[in-house]
Amino acid sequence: MAIFNQMTSMEHEQVVFCYDKPTGLKSIIGIHNTVLGPALGGTRMWNYASDSEALTDVLRLSRGMTFKNALAGLNIGGGKAVIIGDPRQLKNEAFLRRFGRFVESLNGKYVTAEDVSMSTADMVYINMETSHVTGLPEYMGGMGDPSPVTAYGTYVGMKAAAKRVYGADSLEGKKVLVQGVGNVGQYLVDHLTKENAKVFVSDINEEKLNEVNKKYGAEIIAPKDVYSFDMDIYAPCALGATLNDDTIPQLKCQIVAGAANNQLKDENVHGAELIKRGIVYAPDFLINAGGVINVYMEYAKSGHSKMAYEQSDKIYDTLLEALDRAERENITPQEAAMKMAVDRIEKIGKVKLSY
Ligand code: NAD
Repeated sequence: MAIFNQMTSMEHEQVVFCYDKPTGLKSIIGIHNTVLGPALGGTRMWNYASDSEALTDVLRLSRGMTFKNALAGLNIGGGKAVIIGDPRQLKNEAFLRRFGRFVESLNGKYVTAEDVSMSTADMVYINMETSHVTGLPEYMGGMGDPSPVTAYGTYVGMKAAAKRVYGADSLEGKKVLVQGVGNVGQYLVDHLTKENAKVFVSDINEEKLNEVNKKYGAEIIAPKDVYSFDMDIYAPCALGATLNDDTIPQLKCQIVAGAANNQLKDENVHGAELIKRGIVYAPDFLINAGGVINVYMEYAKSGHSKMAYEQSDKIYDTLLEALDRAERENITPQEAAMKMAVDRIEKIGKVKLSY
């Protein structure tokens, strides 16, 4: 019953629990909304503390994909999958192919791709069992790792937020702290460095930190000092829920703009808390859409890499529109962006129903 309560409150269409004894695979696929098309969203593998934590994550992430895909103008719905467990111990060919079989069993209602702890190489194994997978390497005719496009869109969104706050979109001289220098974070650091921003980085993985420090000269900030750091822009690019009761009162920045999904721990509370402190928040699902634009074009065979970057440029205007709407309607940017997404789903839903 608790599961149906969660599904009801977030309005999911379908949740699929998958288990395979021989490989130890435990996965949950969340299909949130398929009005615009099949539910597309990556698979995240994570060592969740409990099954209920994994369920909450997949429900939140798949719902976010509905808004993200709709706002990016794509003809797809929102879905996501999580796999429970330690990738270093569990991930192998049979494990990934078994997951591919579960995706295949949904007959194209859900299309998977990479997310945290999953790579293009993993998609190759999944693709041995299903064609409903995207984010494949170039040598297989795919468009490769979506992370560079995600980072580009995030950078474009950050510039739009800067335009709003500072009157100009240059990031030169701005103190930007990138939290999480994984696939997306590293490419974001690259864009910021090229624009002469003052870049600071934080991560729990020392090896990656040192690599970025060496390559870009970005100063390292200890994880415990991130939130109270004197910065202009905070760019969360690790995991979600970093904007919460504990962290928001510590923030001194004027902008939050990053790639991590579900940055607001509670979207009904923490978006408003940021406004109270005069901090402009660029909704994560709006500015991190570059990656899904890339994998969608691959799946729908409707574009190529250059077009994915061009479509990601639109994130700039979409964010300004969301910030304007938020001000006009006295709501948070998150709420404004969600309304814009719902408007499109409703309009296109009616088009599909008309005859
Ligand atoms: P990744 O796993 O490559 O990188 C995440 C990084 O965050 C790692 O280096 C990890 O060590 C670090 N990290 C984890 N916990 C941390 C903490 N508490 N403090 C500091 N660093 C921490 O993942 P990624 O592909 O770069 O994605 C980053 C975020 O962006 C995720 O939330 C993901 O869902 C989101 N996102 C990614 C894409 C994409 O194209 N890869 C698209 C949309 C959204």
